[in-house]
Parts: sequence; C-alpha cells; structure tokens
Amino acid sequence: MADIVIREDLCKGCGICIEVCPRGVLAPSKRPSSWGLPLAEVIRPEACILCRLCEFYCPDMAVEVRG
Ligand code: SF4
Ligand code: SF4
Repeated sequence: MADIVIREDLCKGCGICIEVCPRGVLAPSKRPSSWGLPLAEVIRPEACILCRLCEFYCPDMAVEVRG
C-alpha cells in the first residue's frame, strides 16, 4: 500500500491535492492549518495508484508519496 505523508508543518490547507487526486485518497481534516484552513489528510490509502499528482501539484511541497 502507498505511504502518503502530509507534512502538517508545511500544509496550508489549500485543498489542491484533494482536488487533483483521481481516487479520493485525500480529504480535508477537521484540524486547521496555520492559515486556518483544513489540513489535508489521507483517508483511503488503499485506493492510491501512485500517480503522484498530489505531490506534483502541492505548492508547498507538503506531500510525499512513497510506495
Ligand atoms: S496541496 Fe499541499 S498545501 Fe494544499 S492542502 Fe494539499 S498538502 Fe496542503
Ligand atoms: S499519488 Fe495519485 S492516487 Fe495517490 S494520493 Fe496522490 S494523487 Fe491520489
């Protein structure tokens, strides 16, 4: 299974990774970022196809996909 790491110290909660993921792996959490927006979190790691779009599009380099 993919190991997707969201660096919460870097994530501002823009939601881009959630929008670009074709498999619904990521979602907004209930916890706010330092910007007051919802931190991204991994909810369905088993669905990940390792396309790395989330990693590529994150403007803050807060996502790392290992697998
Ligand atoms: S794209 Fe990056 S900064 Fe934006 S919500 Fe996702 S992990 Fe956070
Ligand atoms: S690697 Fe692709 S499928 Fe996996 S979480 Fe990122 S965008 Fe979604």
